Amino acid sequence: PFIIRISSLSKHYTMGDQLVKALDKIDLDFRENDYAAIMGPSGSGKSTLMNILGCLDTPTAGRYELNGQNVAEMDDDELARVRNREIGFVFQTFNLLPRLDCLRNVELPLIYAGVSPEERLERSRKALEEVGLGDRIDHKPGELSGGQTQRVAIARALVNHPSIILADEPTGNLDTATSRDIMDIFGRLSDAGNTIILITHEEEIARFTRRIIRLRDGRIESDSAP
Ligand code: ADP
Ligand code: ADP
Repeated sequence: PFIIRISSLSKHYTMGDQLVKALDKIDLDFRENDYAAIMGPSGSGKSTLMNILGCLDTPTAGRYELNGQNVAEMDDDELARVRNREIGFVFQTFNLLPRLDCLRNVELPLIYAGVSPEERLERSRKALEEVGLGDRIDHKPGELSGGQTQRVAIARALVNHPSIILADEPTGNLDTATSRDIMDIFGRLSDAGNTIILITHEEEIARFTRRIIRLRDGRIESDSAP
């Protein structure tokens, strides 16, 4: 079954009298346990596609179906729910709150989701254990290495059991060995049935996935196994 179906999807921007086709009538489907890398030169449309997949931005034309639901027909409450529950975001710059310890950072999406304090604690602990940080729950982001920080961010992305994990250059700030650790975690999550879509410009990182989608000038140039 397809968790994401995109058909003839476009995103246009007007810059003065110029029309920029950031995405130009793309068709793209993702299956439930897809593990995919989106690659392509700067300006090819990667971020635009990620933002639309994450329901953070809307297309100019075309259709985006998420879990069988037409995203264009969702109201603001439904979109907020989808962003909080169905999608886990991971960023290159981690985006953790520096004053909160790991447990509190991971707990945040659960607060928005209205989960009780006891359950929040339990699920946040478990998510941190899943990424190998069970012994760091009371550390603040500044007391952790880059790789550990990204693992906290992954735990936060996982804690609501989203169906899809979207990661924008998740290893962009990490050294090679640490990047590999992060890709190992994504690999395990993928084996456990999560849908994982990440942007990367590194071929060595993309090789860890099972599908590489290359964009160029807002179109899909290729879509194949590594
Ligand atoms: P990538 O992530 O692959 O670098 P982007 O999706 O950021 O590519 O950008 C695709 C194209 O859309 C580029 O030509 C970019 O300049 C343009 N673009 C992106 N966002 C905007 C915006 N908010 N306003 C105008 N043009 C934009
Ligand atoms: P609300 O409108 O209920 O405050 P948001 O839509 O702002 O909810 O956020 C829902 C989820 O989406 C949050 O977990 C947040 O981290 C994530 N999110 C919101 N905006 C962005 C963004 N621009 N980039 C990445 N993630 C975002």
